[in-house]
Amino acid sequence: MKNKCLLVKISALVIGLLSFSAHGQDRFANVTIETVPVAGNISMLIGQGGNIGVSAGDDGILIIDDQFAPLADRIKAALEALGSDSPKFLLNTHFHGDHVGGNAEFGAESVIVAHENVRIRMAGGDAPAVALPVVTYDDDVSIHFNGETVTLIHMPRGHTDTDSVVYFEESDVIHMGDHFFNGAFPFVDLANGGTVQGYIDNLERVLSWITDDTSVIPGHGPLASKSDLMNFYNVVKDTSIDIRVKKSQRMSAEEIVAEGLGPELESWGQGFISEEAWITTVFNSYPR
Ligand SMILES: [Zn+2]
Repeated sequence: MKNKCLLVKISALVIGLLSFSAHGQDRFANVTIETVPVAGNISMLIGQGGNIGVSAGDDGILIIDDQFAPLADRIKAALEALGSDSPKFLLNTHFHGDHVGGNAEFGAESVIVAHENVRIRMAGGDAPAVALPVVTYDDDVSIHFNGETVTLIHMPRGHTDTDSVVYFEESDVIHMGDHFFNGAFPFVDLANGGTVQGYIDNLERVLSWITDDTSVIPGHGPLASKSDLMNFYNVVKDTSIDIRVKKSQRMSAEEIVAEGLGPELESWGQGFISEEAWITTVFNSYPR
């Protein structure tokens, strides 16, 4: 199943790139939305941008994140197949455009819930009022929906200063938002309150809560388990220590990039964040 998802995603990416070079414009033209069953009544939608979490049941539809506005009709078609194309709740894991890009398309019908900093940062940009979260919180909040407790938990100063993870208690599913790039170096948005140390601390918190039975939805990449998240955490932590040690030995970022992190991590730099970008992020996130 995982291999199939990955293949579909890779081919979508290749087709996307081809269409981009051929027409120069609509990078969403060939994006399809794939529905992946996760556990209980929870599914994950893969398209382009952050993975979408869905709870579908007697109370209706709740979704986590909404990718990009041009994909809203395709996302609604996938939700209709799960019961309804108009979600009662829309939860945002953080404020980046590949996770909240469809908010204006859903906000008239759905109650948008997110950390208060999502609202602050979106309102400070050019988002219309209809796209803004209407229920906000500081540390955490629970929604009782489709027979289970859905809890949003703030992850401070990690990927950004706006992030939460979402835990479905009865189905035992966690949506990590961009605190998990499955199999790739993460983006840590230093310009918007993110820190590498906070990111690592947040991963440790989550790993202390979940079990081997928990299904883990990453912000980007295929559906995962706790051991996949542990693997990601170890790569993030070990490479950070490596880079910090070299920085303390007065190596420049350029010298650390030239030395590299080792051939066994080559595939980790093939996603959004190259090895060079990751080294630079860690280098800039810690004092010497
Ligand atoms: Zn993000």
